[in-house]
Amino acid sequence: MKTIIGLEIHVQLDTKSKLFCGCSTSADSPNTSVCPICLGMPGSKPVLNKKAVEYALMVASALNCKINRKFFFSRKTYFYPDLAKNFQITQYEIPVGEKGFLEIDGKKIRITRVHLEEDPASLVHESGMVSSNYSLVDYNRSGIPLAEIVTEPDIESPEQARKFLDKLLLILNYLGVYAHGRSVLKADCNLSIKGSERVEVKNVSGFKAVEDALKAEEERQRSVIESGGKVELETRAFDDVSLTTYTLRKKETEADYGYIFDADLVETNVSNEWLAKIKASVPELPEEKAKRFVKQFGLTEYDASVIASSKGLSDIFEGCVKSDSKIAVRLISRELLGILNYNKLSLDQTSVDAKGMVALVELLKAGKVSDKNAKDSLIKYVVEGILPVDYLGKNNLFIDSSSVDAESVVKAIIEKNKNVFDEFKGGNKKSLNFLIGLAMRELKGKADARKIQGIIEKL
Ligand SMILES: [Zn+2]
Repeated sequence: MKTIIGLEIHVQLDTKSKLFCGCSTSADSPNTSVCPICLGMPGSKPVLNKKAVEYALMVASALNCKINRKFFFSRKTYFYPDLAKNFQITQYEIPVGEKGFLEIDGKKIRITRVHLEEDPASLVHESGMVSSNYSLVDYNRSGIPLAEIVTEPDIESPEQARKFLDKLLLILNYLGVYAHGRSVLKADCNLSIKGSERVEVKNVSGFKAVEDALKAEEERQRSVIESGGKVELETRAFDDVSLTTYTLRKKETEADYGYIFDADLVETNVSNEWLAKIKASVPELPEEKAKRFVKQFGLTEYDASVIASSKGLSDIFEGCVKSDSKIAVRLISRELLGILNYNKLSLDQTSVDAKGMVALVELLKAGKVSDKNAKDSLIKYVVEGILPVDYLGKNNLFIDSSSVDAESVVKAIIEKNKNVFDEFKGGNKKSLNFLIGLAMRELKGKADARKIQGIIEKL
């Protein structure tokens, strides 16, 4: 039994003001960031937020969509207390972008459309209970700009849906258009078992919940079919406590909403110049970046994709390669990734940043710290959040070439290990490493291994 999944994802665009009025998108207390437009007062006229359009166009471009050069807005009519006007301004006939794709596991998940719409108000139920006697309405959210991203039913499993969302979020972070921290990603999840009716699980909040809701719904539909029943076309909701879905209403179709062109808003024309400017502001995205890291810095494909799949890691890497690409590749792909992996940490869980890492690369480059002490300081940085510079300074671990006479130490070691030195002269690489090791121990890591090697080779 093949599972078929399609998603409709709503993300809040990170603008200062709302989609059709000047009200701020951040407010502390309920119903304070409102005006006649977002309260739907008679006679008020909406004005389109240009920044929101630009952000939606960036999203559409990054998702490989065809950009519509002329689009307009429509009214989606329904009555509900969260909708002061009794209609929501959205896009129906012509969205900002359409016919794109996003690749997951080597498969192209087709993007049907990317469109702009306003968020309704939020309903606050007394002490969080839906069954209480009344609900409160907060219009601060009314008119917040959302981009809705709709996929074709190309996703094959709840896990793949999760991967899709992870990748989408990464792209949104790269674009810098998503108001994360201020909003949760919401999705309507459509799922069917091949040959049966489709069910929509409405308004699921957060990545984990989307995956859980899809798993629950997949299991429910399979057991209905296995027990000889028929899956009904309907809209359901997800309860994230019991991890089950329940019936909301029998499915309505989009046409039932009676969309009508919003005559208060003018048609938007995307000029060549404007589109070129927007496309230029789309940064290099994770996949291209990983390919470039392999080509430019000789990273393995795996390391490159790990680094590029985190905005934080790639910012660190880009900062460090400017200082010294060889040291940066070694320090980040081998040491930093290794330490994170060993401690089961992601970069976000640490205080490691580009500035701290660049400082360490600079120290290595200047020969002021041994590889071993650099690594130790990096472990402290990742696990305890102590800056490498502070750790090395406090523990007196900087190489002080003026006070250490490395050459006489090396000479004494060679004197005591003549046979090993002879082996080295005979071409034995292991003997060289042995002598370097002895010297480093004698100098307590306050010398640079490469410098010691230079001295031995000279002698
Ligand atoms: Zn307003």
